[in-house]
Amino acid sequence: MNKRVVILGAGYAGVVTALGLAKETTVQEVEITLVNKYDYHQLVTQLYEPAAAAKRDTEVRIPLARLLSGKHVRFVRDVVTKIDLQAKTVMLQGGELQYDYLVVALGSETEYFGIPGMKEHSMTLKSVDEARLIRTHIERCFAEYPYDPRPEYLTFVVGGAGLTGIELVGEIANWLPRLCEESNIPRDQVKLYNVEAMTSILPGFDDDLAAKAEEVLRAKGVIFKVGSPIVQVEPEAVHLKSGEIIRAKTIIWTGGVRGNQIVVDAGFETEPRGRAKVNEYLQAAGHEDVYMAGDCCFVLNEQGRPYPPTAQLAIQMGTCVARNLCAELKGQAKTSFTPKILGTVASLGGRDAVGKVGKNYKTSGRVAYLIKDLSQIRYLAKIGGLMK
Ligand code: NAD
Repeated sequence: MNKRVVILGAGYAGVVTALGLAKETTVQEVEITLVNKYDYHQLVTQLYEPAAAAKRDTEVRIPLARLLSGKHVRFVRDVVTKIDLQAKTVMLQGGELQYDYLVVALGSETEYFGIPGMKEHSMTLKSVDEARLIRTHIERCFAEYPYDPRPEYLTFVVGGAGLTGIELVGEIANWLPRLCEESNIPRDQVKLYNVEAMTSILPGFDDDLAAKAEEVLRAKGVIFKVGSPIVQVEPEAVHLKSGEIIRAKTIIWTGGVRGNQIVVDAGFETEPRGRAKVNEYLQAAGHEDVYMAGDCCFVLNEQGRPYPPTAQLAIQMGTCVARNLCAELKGQAKTSFTPKILGTVASLGGRDAVGKVGKNYKTSGRVAYLIKDLSQIRYLAKIGGLMK
């Protein structure tokens, strides 16, 4: 009987694994099943664009039917509820699946750090649906303001100045002049805050690049509150550690991510942020029939610290898992995972960005934006997502 490979999650890691495995195997060798709760692949790193009306939703989601067309991958649209490692079974809302090999690529969840009221009263940016919610919410605030002219309607708070928070605040800043013009509201009546607990924005970026990003965003009217942890959120109010209260209808939280709870509940060995430990071949610690890829697991860098969970890492992990599964099915030797960090670029809204390519080349402005755009095109070409 051919082996059954079940892949959980059709994000960057899951899609690359499924396509890579299908490319190197035949339907006689392996039965590949890909499970995902949406019937499309989301370009999660681009979500800030539809959230701020810079792109349409359809530009950041690709139908899985298109990506998988002609490939021997069966797609199951369902929600994973539990993994039973002993029974080699995955429980779904609508049934269950047996596997010989499992690939867990379920991504990450929002980390709220137990901040009172944050989960209840903030929006997050982890899906196309959430991006649409943010966009329509902001538009609604502008539309309602003339009927109830309280400053809360025109005050927008993004909590967290990591990549997600900075890219979102930059794109919103770029959108504001258009919104103000359409609503006939002076720009100086609108307040856009970015609140960060650490003393500088963009953790992990070189100081000069972070400073450049801050300068560009300040010029676009972003009000920074750095070294100001959010300690509590109420409906329409953000409390900072300093005692300051920012009253706002729009509160968006980008303060951190943690591993997937399903992975924790399944009994995998995890670190405190819920990400699973894997060996050099990306097999889950103690479970050689389970491979992991993307944000739900971690690998260590040369300094012994986990690599940040980025799309480029997830894509490289997916490639490695596909290769190792293929080797396993064909009785060949597996290869170790060696991450190759090509650089990181943060968009600052419009066609502006800052970042680093390779170890030393720092870039900003349009060139940085172009580099980011090219890496996106390269990825789309890899998965066959360029053609409509
Ligand atoms: P993050 O953890 O990188 O940043 C969150 C920020 O929120 C931090 O600066 C943190 O200090 C701040 N914060 C935490 N608690 C706070 C509080 N109480 N008040 C105010 N600020 C607080 O989270 P992220 O930006 O969502 O990114 C998560 C991961 O995803 C990162 O590893 C990032 O590199 C990655 N990412 C990758 C891409 C990409 O691949 N292009 C895009 C976005 C994010």
